Amino acid sequence: MQRAHTESPSILIIGTGFGGLGMAIQLKKAGYHNITLLEKASRVGGTWRDNTYPGAACDVQSHFYSYSFEPKHDWSRKFGLQSEILGYMEHCVEKYGLGEHIRFNSEVSQANFDQRLNRWNVTLTSGETLTARILITATGQLNQPACPKIQGLDHFRGRMFHSARWDHDYDLTGKKVAVIGTGASAIQFVPEVAKQANTLNLFQRSAAWVLPKPDRPFKPWEQWLFSKLPIWDRLYRYLIYWKNESRALAFTRFNGLLEIFARQARKEAQKRVTDPEKLRKIIPDYQIGCKRILISNDWYPAINQTNVNLVTDAIREVAPDGVVTADGAHYPADAIILATGFRASEFLSPITIIGRNGKNLNEAWKNGAVAFKGITVSGFPNMFMLYGPNTNLAHNSILYMLESQFRYVLDCLKALDKYPGAAMDVREDRQERFSQVVQTGLEGTVWDTGCTSWYLDENGKNTVNWPGFTFTYRFATRHVETADYQFLNPAH
Ligand code: NAP
Repeated sequence: MQRAHTESPSILIIGTGFGGLGMAIQLKKAGYHNITLLEKASRVGGTWRDNTYPGAACDVQSHFYSYSFEPKHDWSRKFGLQSEILGYMEHCVEKYGLGEHIRFNSEVSQANFDQRLNRWNVTLTSGETLTARILITATGQLNQPACPKIQGLDHFRGRMFHSARWDHDYDLTGKKVAVIGTGASAIQFVPEVAKQANTLNLFQRSAAWVLPKPDRPFKPWEQWLFSKLPIWDRLYRYLIYWKNESRALAFTRFNGLLEIFARQARKEAQKRVTDPEKLRKIIPDYQIGCKRILISNDWYPAINQTNVNLVTDAIREVAPDGVVTADGAHYPADAIILATGFRASEFLSPITIIGRNGKNLNEAWKNGAVAFKGITVSGFPNMFMLYGPNTNLAHNSILYMLESQFRYVLDCLKALDKYPGAAMDVREDRQERFSQVVQTGLEGTVWDTGCTSWYLDENGKNTVNWPGFTFTYRFATRHVETADYQFLNPAH
């Protein structure tokens, strides 16, 4: 739907992952053209640009890990590989003419709201400042690699890199490799590295629940059918949606149902891991679903390889030539790969964001990130977050949540049209009430059963996950209630 009037507010979007690109497409479709996307890197893609480790792939089905408005009929597999997903994103940039709106190598360091003019001043690390009426942040939750605080890490003399910053120039063939962490990233690259390395010492602090991945290449006739019968493509997408969605209740209300999956994971491990010691260590001791459930067909076979050693003793320190565990054992290493995840609950923290009356976002969030519908934050007018607090999922595609957010932001802009020059600021009591509903909803969920995970912030508060169905989120974001907001005139 095109906008009726001609004046287009200036819009700055930070980030060119699925959030930033999809938002820009929807804005353009709605007739907003004064858009600039700021990208710190030299290429689009967010997490799919950064995570290039061998074996990188998605654990959500391809047909549902793509925009509803831009179906891709010729996915090569049921679960897309990183390169294909990145290619899809680049295709979107091309098709929707986003290239001219993107400024690469433009990392944002600060954003300040000027309430005299109702404008955001956004400063880049280069020192340049850009100004816009609307600020949309689309920096994702998984863009800041977490480096573990392990003594001696800085003094390691071999090669060391994080899984999200893979060092492709370093050949792991025949090397002694140490991998720290056994989460979603590790389970994808460890099987690949195990094929090359002489020895792979895998340091596991907590075992992961891993289910078989129902993945396979699509046959040419299936791709043909998807493209010739778009209705079948659409139906296929719906089927995936409802299959995934049906699991929400198990995560949030009836955790006992997840035991079916735990049994399946145990059975799979018993079938594939023949070394009894490794088998004992690889079965988690916490409730399935408390951390993200992982899917892989080659994880257990990799663990079973004789050159892979599963170390569960705590790491005491990193020595210049290897890793030392609490019992004093020394594991020599030519390379250390940190598969230690991301600082997910810190959200926008590397950027200093100052809102009305000098309110600092990091300060406002010192007791945990909170945003109304995961999108707007009181005191930060005309700022909209994509994939903000409590909008992550464990059971379905984040793209569905993002598309709900695109609609909501567009509706906010429509509401702003009625108040020329004004800035909309969510009322604090509405934000507080929304946050209470979310936190109450999170009580009794499987994420609340005592494990540590990236869903919880340093105070143990779940600031990451949405506690229910995605269609309830879509309903909650279907349109803007103007009563939830104050519309502020410039304070000259
Ligand atoms: P992660 O799931 O947070 O795993 C980090 C791992 O490092 C955990 O095993 C953790 O152990 C371990 N660890 C952290 N600090 C440590 C320390 N100081 N000493 C020893 N071990 C330490 O991170 P990730 O594997 O990068 O995945 C993060 C998220 O990215 C996933 O949950 C998923 O949402 C996303 N992802 C998605 C895909 C996909 O297919 N869509 C693929 C990769 C990643 P503890 O468990 O004991 O803390």
